[in-house]
Amino acid sequence: MKRDDSIKNGDKFNRRWLIVTILGTLTITVLGLYLLSSYRTTRVEAASLPDIANAIDANQVKDITLRGDLITITQFDGSRMSARKEANVSFFESMQLLGISPATLKSLTIVVEDGQGGMSNYLGLTLTLAPLVLIGFFIFMAFRHVQRGGMAGGFPNQIGQSNARVVSDSAEADAAAERPKVTFDDVAGAGQAKFELQEVVEFLKEPEKFTKLGARVPKGVLMAGPPGTGKTLMARAVAGEAGVPFLHISGSEFVEMFVGVGASRVRDLFKKAKDQSPAVVFIDEIDAVGRRRGAGFGGNDEREQTLNQILVTMDGFDTNTNVIVIAATNRPDILDPALLRPGRFDRKVVLDLPDVEAREAILRVHTRGKPLEADISLSDLAKLTPGFAGADLENLANEAAILAARRNLSTIGEPEFQDSIERIIAGPERKGNLLTAAERRTVAYHEAGHAVVMHFADETDPVHKVSIVSRGMALGYTMPLPENNRQLRSKEAFVSEIVGLLGGRAAEEIVFNRITTGAANDLERATRLARSMVTRFGFSEKLGMRTFGEEQGNPFLGSLGETRDYSEERAQAIDQEIDQIIQLAYRQAKAILVEYRTKLDALAEALLEQETVNRPQFEALMAQSTEA
Ligand code: ADP
Ligand code: MG
Ligand code: ZN
Repeated sequence: MKRDDSIKNGDKFNRRWLIVTILGTLTITVLGLYLLSSYRTTRVEAASLPDIANAIDANQVKDITLRGDLITITQFDGSRMSARKEANVSFFESMQLLGISPATLKSLTIVVEDGQGGMSNYLGLTLTLAPLVLIGFFIFMAFRHVQRGGMAGGFPNQIGQSNARVVSDSAEADAAAERPKVTFDDVAGAGQAKFELQEVVEFLKEPEKFTKLGARVPKGVLMAGPPGTGKTLMARAVAGEAGVPFLHISGSEFVEMFVGVGASRVRDLFKKAKDQSPAVVFIDEIDAVGRRRGAGFGGNDEREQTLNQILVTMDGFDTNTNVIVIAATNRPDILDPALLRPGRFDRKVVLDLPDVEAREAILRVHTRGKPLEADISLSDLAKLTPGFAGADLENLANEAAILAARRNLSTIGEPEFQDSIERIIAGPERKGNLLTAAERRTVAYHEAGHAVVMHFADETDPVHKVSIVSRGMALGYTMPLPENNRQLRSKEAFVSEIVGLLGGRAAEEIVFNRITTGAANDLERATRLARSMVTRFGFSEKLGMRTFGEEQGNPFLGSLGETRDYSEERAQAIDQEIDQIIQLAYRQAKAILVEYRTKLDALAEALLEQETVNRPQFEALMAQSTEA
């Protein structure tokens, strides 16, 4: 507040501003050079998760920074790489899926930053920049004054202006803003969300129709959903459908600013929108400024000021403002309740990870205009990609096209998609003979064990593919094909999944009477499943239908801990119950493998011979009546 006043009282600087301007130009040059150089040193290379895992595995990593789903590593040679992880898989899990052991991970320096940059970072930056910033700010005020005085004040003025991008096709961005060309047709699958946003579109198209009747029109829509589910796309499509300008800014941009500037950018942004109304203002990553106040360590003045400014401005909208604010977040749970009050972001539209039908539709959108082989089945591909967000599917379509080009094909076929899916899930194939013959045999039996157990256990998904081609950090993999999109899973399905996970270890024990470290990841996943059966879903008869422990929501590392809401005895009982589930499942896995030993052998042989066995071949092997 005080700062705003001082801006308005800029007259006090009247006599001094000329000198200050000269001084300021110098400082800004220095500041500019400084920022430029620091920008260059902090350049980060975009990489994939397996690249990061490889670097960790090769002991090249000095430290790791986690910021939301963004993993950034600094290597000993000073270079940095970053990659995005799956939202619902913690960093530890993602790395373990790629074969990095928990011990390795624990030996690394891991810095968790929240959306706004780590506290230490923030502090360090403040300390180094503080003097420059102070001078810069002083000059900025002077410049504001200069411009009001009619001089062609230059770029410093932009500090206080929002750099909201008005989407525009034409070069003269400042003139009448262009409208996004994206429409609802480009957003596949999200039927419910489109339906809910239809009203907003209608309002933007014909605001008078609503205001004439005195209807209270929506002001703010909160779009919630995991990363890559098309929140940004959907917001643009709303503007596109209505044919109105789209102004876009990200909450995280506000946070990087100097105190007071965020709020002024918000004012500026909304002013731009009003000038061009009807319009859509899109605030991406609203959680960066809209976190529950008082939560987390320390306060952040800048964030609160910015948030307050957003709220105040939205409250100030009257019935003929005709600006719709759409905010996006993947953490609706941490938002300040003040944001969700009536008259603010009181509509919530959820974009979930797409189900099998939606995935097919999204694939259809992103293969539009790409030459596909005639017999390709997008619905089969959709089945193979559970957990893929829209962005992953877009990536898939693109990877498949690249692969087809590299293979000198004129059309993209099923194999290109299959290979790209595997690449996206498990990382690129690892070439070279890294395994000894004995190790290869162990891996073959391990994977065959998973596959045979999955095939013969009840309520499991069919096996789509078994392979001992090393990918990323995994030595082999067994890929199930989820039959239908299940929303609810039975207790039996959980047990079967655990049995399947233990099939690898069981095969090793039966065949070699010796177990290896290869099953570490399977065991962890099995344990986690068993634990959630007991503590989350009330599947344990002994412990009953209640949940145990409240998971401490940590967006960065998954569950870092829990608040215990049960007694020590219960804790022991939970442990026992988990042990019991696992032991029972392991016995079941072994029983299946003993019964179908010949099939296990046949599959392992086939794997050793040809490395990969796909579904038809697998089913044929399993169907052969080799024993009585
Ligand atoms: P978010 O903002 O939720 O992280 P984006 O809107 O940035 O996701 O989505 C990234 C890309 O993924 C989009 O540009 C689009 O190509 C693709 N995508 C995501 N969801 C869909 C969808 N439902 N239909 C078509 N494409 C989608
Ligand atoms: Mg987005
Ligand atoms: Zn395994």
